[in-house]
Amino acid sequence: MTISMRFLDFCQVMERVDSTTKKNEKIIIVASFLAELSLEELPLACYYAAAQVFSKKSQLKVQFGWSSFMAVIRQLTTRSDKELQSFYRRKADFGSLIEWALLKPKPRPKSLSTFFEGETEPDPPSIGEINTFFEKIASLTGKGSLRKKKEELLQLLTTLSPLEAKYIARIITSDTRTGFQEGLLLEAIAIAFKRRKEHVRYAYMVLSDLGELALVSKNPSLNLTSIVPKLFHPLKSMLATKTDSIEDALDTFSPLVCESKIDGFRAQLHINLQLCKIYSRNLEDVTEAFPEITGSITPAQKKQIAPCILDGEIVGLVENKPVFFQDISTRILRKTDVASSVLKLPCYFFVFDVLLFRGESLLRMELQERKGVLSTLPTSKHVQIISSETVEDLVEIQDRFREAIKDGYEGLMLKDPTSLYLAGRRGKSWLKLKATLPTLDLVIVGAEWGHGRRTGWLSNYHLAAKENDGFQMIGKTFKGLTDSEFDWLTEKLKSLKITDESYGVRVQPQVVVEVEFDNIQQSLKYPSGMALRFARIKKIRTDKSIEDVDSIETVQQLYQGQLQRQKHINKS
Ligand code: AMP
Repeated sequence: MTISMRFLDFCQVMERVDSTTKKNEKIIIVASFLAELSLEELPLACYYAAAQVFSKKSQLKVQFGWSSFMAVIRQLTTRSDKELQSFYRRKADFGSLIEWALLKPKPRPKSLSTFFEGETEPDPPSIGEINTFFEKIASLTGKGSLRKKKEELLQLLTTLSPLEAKYIARIITSDTRTGFQEGLLLEAIAIAFKRRKEHVRYAYMVLSDLGELALVSKNPSLNLTSIVPKLFHPLKSMLATKTDSIEDALDTFSPLVCESKIDGFRAQLHINLQLCKIYSRNLEDVTEAFPEITGSITPAQKKQIAPCILDGEIVGLVENKPVFFQDISTRILRKTDVASSVLKLPCYFFVFDVLLFRGESLLRMELQERKGVLSTLPTSKHVQIISSETVEDLVEIQDRFREAIKDGYEGLMLKDPTSLYLAGRRGKSWLKLKATLPTLDLVIVGAEWGHGRRTGWLSNYHLAAKENDGFQMIGKTFKGLTDSEFDWLTEKLKSLKITDESYGVRVQPQVVVEVEFDNIQQSLKYPSGMALRFARIKKIRTDKSIEDVDSIETVQQLYQGQLQRQKHINKS
């Protein structure tokens, strides 16, 4: 079967999705569209609807930023930079900017107009041809590849309508804000193929691939809950929700499984007899960054447990105390020589969960049973099991919390012993309790050029929380980063630049940072009415994506909590 659906058809469906604010209508429009697609078209339509170029599991990347995209657009439009910038300032939507730019095209270059003379306009490309284009630009790597990618994009855009170009822009830049978010897509898949929502969510956790998910959902003879994890196919990770106090946690469930919260790097370790691989929370293969971990598992140990998938946190230890993430992130960003980093700061994998053991899926087991299996796991120098206890006594948990902080941990993880492993939405089965004020995961939407010591760096970062389909700024900071992080962020933000501003740049919201602050105050400066006081970046969260950014509601809840505490203090 060939792929005949035009990319334009897909764009028109997405326009209908965009034109309604009602979630249910959006879901129904996409569901009826998906239900009609062939097996070849379905996966591609799912990736594109969620503004993904390829499956999240794919190690293929297009590596093409907004500023490169804009450079190509400038060759095609008669609109001036000033007009483009002012449009973006009003709409803050990159896809619409591209569409609007191409509505006023430059006359076609001579060679192209001769080429088309006497010929009819080419047919709009099929969704499969667009996939071929993405694969082609992803395959261009190394010296000179950016120039070639720009040429390929220029070539493609000259054959597309402004509407098609808008969606190419959204997909290439993963602009989910006005696209169709993953959660809604899962609901649409459930409706399209008459599946239960929770079964679709479960299957997505195991497959981590929207295209594969749609295909298995379309197959009526397949029971989604019978899908089991496969080695070397990373699963989505179970997430935790913030809790303010041990009392609140005990109100949610009791007894609870209590563990230290390690401030490290979330990872999944996949083991068979021949091979061990490590994946990040974003499903990236990061095996090469941690040779000491994979190298410490002996053949005999593998034989006892394989095929096996472990969930845990990677952290560096110095004198048995955890050392903060920054040093690890330089390994992952390939900013350091791994061999010397292994000597300087050896890393350890602390296992807190087991998802596959001797080939058997444990996903339908309760946490307490999975912990039972975990206790039989042989440990090695660099793979250890996190110590965990089931407790219900408030004082005992308070003691554990104090001990954890003293030992250099971030706080505690409190888990429901009867819970199943469920990824995706943040549920209430895992609660995180941190020592300091809770931090916020925010996205950088702009940055200012630094002065003095910070000259040459983009350094004062504009921080935003999620609101509906967009982002709302709630603070700025230049604090908390090392020089090499300033270097890295400056390069990264330059590649995400949308417009130059008098202060610096506006950027595509993509880089997530974990931000500490003293408190939240009322402020007229930002539309949300709130601003962070003394914000500082605790970590650049390369392991998180914009779907993980905290919402304005979360900021409001923190603000309300802060007011309550203030009242309490004033009274006493
Ligand atoms: P946060 O990064 O603040 O969203 O907190 C949740 C993260 O804490 C998880 O994704 C893990 O990376 C990490 N973590 C540290 N210790 C544990 C633990 N004992 N159990 C589960 N997650 C943990």
